[in-house]
Amino acid sequence: MTSHPSFDTLPNGAPHLSVVVPMYDEQEVLPLFAERLRPVLDGLEVPYEVVCVDDGSRDATASLLHAMRRTWPQVRLIQLRANSGHQAAISAGLARARGRWMVTIDADLQDPPEVIAQMLEVAEREHVDVVYGVRTDRSTDTAFKRVTAEAFYALMHRLGARGAMNAGDFRLMSRTTVDAVLALPETNRVLRLVVPALGFPSADVGYRRDERAAGESKYPLSKMIRLTLDSVTGVSSAPLRLATWFGLAGFVLAFAVAAFAVVSKLTGHSITGWASTIVVVSGFGAMQLLCLGVLGEYVGRLFQSAQARPTHYVAYDSFEAGGTGTGRG
Ligand code: UDP
Ligand code: MG
Repeated sequence: MTSHPSFDTLPNGAPHLSVVVPMYDEQEVLPLFAERLRPVLDGLEVPYEVVCVDDGSRDATASLLHAMRRTWPQVRLIQLRANSGHQAAISAGLARARGRWMVTIDADLQDPPEVIAQMLEVAEREHVDVVYGVRTDRSTDTAFKRVTAEAFYALMHRLGARGAMNAGDFRLMSRTTVDAVLALPETNRVLRLVVPALGFPSADVGYRRDERAAGESKYPLSKMIRLTLDSVTGVSSAPLRLATWFGLAGFVLAFAVAAFAVVSKLTGHSITGWASTIVVVSGFGAMQLLCLGVLGEYVGRLFQSAQARPTHYVAYDSFEAGGTGTGRG
């Protein structure tokens, strides 16, 4: 049914659902994506908007979107000045989307648009704020992608990340959740790690990750490494502590070497100057690492306060009963 009024004509102007789509050089897949997304959204029979974020594409993505707006008024186009990356593009879309619910989805049809309907249904039935799309089957991904993805999620869990394994950025969020995410002062936030950390009530919907429908992956190794570095440092300051551990290990080593040097000196099996050189070199090395570790501890604390993540979120307070509820406004 396509006779629904577009959200622009609604009294309060706020659609029920915003679909946020980051796009970088997606001219090949864009027509296919629109063709499959539109029936799903029209079928929901609620006002919606499709917020397309053109992440500095160099191909015809933007002009295709301009053309698409003529026949599909719910499409909005936000163009970033330069390629700013997948996560930044999603954030840009979320910041401008007006929906009561917001879903983020890739443009390449790896996330099936039909699942959006299921996510909305689950959210409303189970009264949750977030519905994660969880990849139950990645057999269409390359072996390299599967192995690196597995390593990524395992590492994040080791470092203390919460949330489901294999939940990427295909996810439905309530307005309250998105507002909480956007209120975080950190730059380079990795949404798939930040959203579970906020702890809003959530549910999972499993889906099969399809093959990219057309075009090439826009995630070269360099962008994967960038995402991993942002994720590791966003989740934990543990790496800063490495210097402390190396320093302590260095001290043990220095002590052993010193003992060995003294013994060889006393038993007369030593080259002149060797013992003192070794002891000084290893002792100073260990001392420097320890000092770096101490610096690391302070930088870690600064980093955490710069991130300024709330230490908790209140789900219910009897004093304000009726006001806070599940954290939805
Ligand atoms: N993307 C983007 N900016 C980038 C890289 C990717 O907006 O710098 C978009 C891309 O157009 C797609 C989504 O992010 O909609 C996921 O990218 P892709 O499918 O290439 O990643 P992969 O599935 O290969 O990990
Ligand atoms: Mg993809």
